[in-house]
Amino acid sequence: MTTLRIDNVSRWFGNVVAVNDISMTVGPGVTGLLGPNGAGKSTLINMMGGFLAPSTGSVTLDGQPIWRNEQIYRHIGIVPEREAMYDFLTGAEFVRANAELHGLGAKEAQHALATVEMEYAQDRKIATYSKGMRQRVKMASALVHEPSVLLLDEPFNGMDPRQRMQLMDLLRTMGAEGRTVLFSSHILEEVEQLAAHIEVVVAGRHAASGDFRKIRRLMTDRPHRYLVRSSDDRALAAALIADPSTAGIEVDVHEGVLRVQAVDFGRFTSLLPAVAQAHGIRLLTVSPSDESLESVFSYLVAA
Ligand code: ADP
Ligand code: MG
Repeated sequence: MTTLRIDNVSRWFGNVVAVNDISMTVGPGVTGLLGPNGAGKSTLINMMGGFLAPSTGSVTLDGQPIWRNEQIYRHIGIVPEREAMYDFLTGAEFVRANAELHGLGAKEAQHALATVEMEYAQDRKIATYSKGMRQRVKMASALVHEPSVLLLDEPFNGMDPRQRMQLMDLLRTMGAEGRTVLFSSHILEEVEQLAAHIEVVVAGRHAASGDFRKIRRLMTDRPHRYLVRSSDDRALAAALIADPSTAGIEVDVHEGVLRVQAVDFGRFTSLLPAVAQAHGIRLLTVSPSDESLESVFSYLVAA
């Protein structure tokens, strides 16, 4: 059982709409759920994992509703974001307790600990673990019952580069084995490195989906805004507006800057110095004014 489907799903909490009419299908391999904080990623993952009911719409695994469906839970493993763990237990005890909840025993717990390479520290108390070790033990307990679907909420948060690489390798292996692996992140580079397929959510809405090339393209093809200061803003504005890579330009006399909106980012960045030089204008500063990931995301949603 490997195909997760979200069909016109909304979920609200009081009058907060966390997820707003989202539809998507997630199949075998590694998928990244990308979006800024508050986008609705955790809410989506919790609905896919059976922790939360959708307010409207349906969440299914191979056509079976997930909410309150015990038969389905055995196919799903979820690694939640929250840190609450039993610090007074050892790693082995923690994973064993989870195995028992699934009617399994020490053998399965041991196998799961080996999968995440935590056997060496399994007899230490969780309280003594690093963030990365905690993450791996959570992962082991999500894996004890060999689920075909693995959901991870912000699994790379707080990991150092080495731990990140190890976890990426592990998730890649699981995806290659034909499992459905979905992880959330607010960092494009992280998602890009690992996910064959990316789903982007922003402010509760589905913004884009595709491979990383497509998502990159969507992000770099959007209009870019620059603040430019030069020795002659008016002359520069006149020269720039003649080129089709410039979408809009404003001479801000109060601030003494030009606000330029460029459609073709690559062309504009080579055009600007060439135009300045041709007109004998000196460029004093050129700075992007909206490079935050949030603004990129909001552009995707508006598109
Ligand atoms: P993300 O994981 O992408 O940061 P969340 O799914 O946690 O986003 O949250 C989406 C929105 O729903 C946020 O505005 C958040 O404050 C709100 N929200 C999430 N869970 C609850 C809850 N249990 N009660 C009230 N509001 C919630
Ligand atoms: Mg979250």
